This record gives sequence, C-alpha cells and structure tokens, in this order.
Amino acid sequence: MRQPIIAGNWKMNGSRASTKELLDGLMAGIDEVKTAEVAVCAPFVYLAEVRAQLSGTPIFWGAQNLSHEEKGAFTGEIAASMLLDFDCKYVIVGHSERRSLYGEDDNLVTKKYAVAHRSGLTPILCVGETLEEREKGVTEDVVARQINAVMNTLGASVLGEGVIAYEPVWAIGTGMTATPEQAQEVHAFIRRLIAEKDAHVSDNIRLQYGGSMNAGNAAELLAMEDIDGGLIGGASLKAEDFLSICRAAG
Ligand code: PEP
Repeated sequence: MRQPIIAGNWKMNGSRASTKELLDGLMAGIDEVKTAEVAVCAPFVYLAEVRAQLSGTPIFWGAQNLSHEEKGAFTGEIAASMLLDFDCKYVIVGHSERRSLYGEDDNLVTKKYAVAHRSGLTPILCVGETLEEREKGVTEDVVARQINAVMNTLGASVLGEGVIAYEPVWAIGTGMTATPEQAQEVHAFIRRLIAEKDAHVSDNIRLQYGGSMNAGNAAELLAMEDIDGGLIGGASLKAEDFLSICRAAG
C-alpha cells in the first residue's frame, strides 16, 4: 500500500511574514489529514523559518533545487549537505522550469538526483512533456527518456528511493489540468517502464501528478489507481486550498 504524498512547491514566492502565516494555517488544519504525507518545498532563504516552525509537526519540508556538486567554489549554489543541515527531507530535481529556463538537461538532472540520494535526501524527480510533444504523440518517449536517464545510470533501486512527479508542462501554472484519464495513462506507462527493470520498485514507488491540481480537481485525480499524490504549485500558497488537497489524498 503506497502512502499518498502531497508536496507544495512554493517556487519563488513569499516573504518571511507570508511564510509564517502560511505555515500557521497549515499547522492549524494538519490534524484533519489522516493518511497522506505532507511536505512543503520552500525557497532556500526561508528554510530556517520553515524548520523552526515545522519541527515536531507531521509536516516535512524540502527545497526546490540543489547543486550537483558537493562543495567548493560554485558561487550562488546550494549543496545537499546544506539542505540536510536544515533537516530537509525532500528536494525537487528536474522541475520543468529548471529544465526549460535554466538549461538543465537529463545528464545534469541525473547528477543532481545522484548527489541528493547519496546524501540522504529524498529526490522528487519531475518529468513531463510539453504541449508540442504531446501533440506530436511523443509523450511516452519524452517521459521514458527522462526516467531512463536516472534509472539506467543509477539503477532502479535508487530510483525507487525517490518520488516521481509526472507534470505535463502544458498543465503547470496554466489552469489546464490533465484529465484524470490522461494523467492515469502516463502514470500507468511509468509504472510499466519501471517494471521492466524492477517489479518491486514499480509497485512501491510513489508517483505524483502535478499541473494545476487544486481543491476542486484533486479528489478525482487522486482517485486514479496509479496516482499516489500531487506536486502542487499555485494552490500550495493558500493554506486552506493546500489542506483541502491533502484531505482529498486521505
Ligand atoms: C509545479 O510547479 O510543480 C506545479 C504543479 O505548479 P501548478 O500547480 O501551479 O501548476
């Protein structure tokens, strides 16, 4: 039985004041979330505040990116060990905004996944096709390429210690959610792809859907057989909306 996981991706939003308010709101309602695991991925500079407020609560936290290097002369970068210093559990790797805006390719994403995993963080590996790729009918090829980059380099069991977020790029931040059937189809494909290498990992790995998931559409997406949670952008910035998605997950 896979425990559902709902993670908020705050992206580059918020302030110290709004972070405190959001976390206060989440803590006030978290007891109503019965089975789902809940995490928030905050901007680096707010991790100290997040840690101070969430320590001892059922909510986990993490970051949205990390360096593929362990330490040294890499101005502006943040190492896995630094995230662990702030007790992060999760780190998002290969988000489509990192891939498209900052040129992160499969090779770099795999290096980031490797350093995160080796350090003891749980990577959330984001994969997904653009609208153009979906219209060309190559969704499965794209998702397979992105997953195989990690799985064939690091092995299926390492992949299995992370989480995969299927996020169709055309659905991120656009309000255009994939239908539950569209999302399920790709999630089932991902499970089949992993099963070719390792049936146990395929059965147990948690697959999140991401892309305009909100309080209104979460329940039907989360009801699909192979959807084990959500990676939530915009709707994770309002405590009540995020909690409502968490409650829908169980
Ligand atoms: C995301 O950025 O991972 C995401 C899913 O964003 P949104 O929910 O806003 O589409």
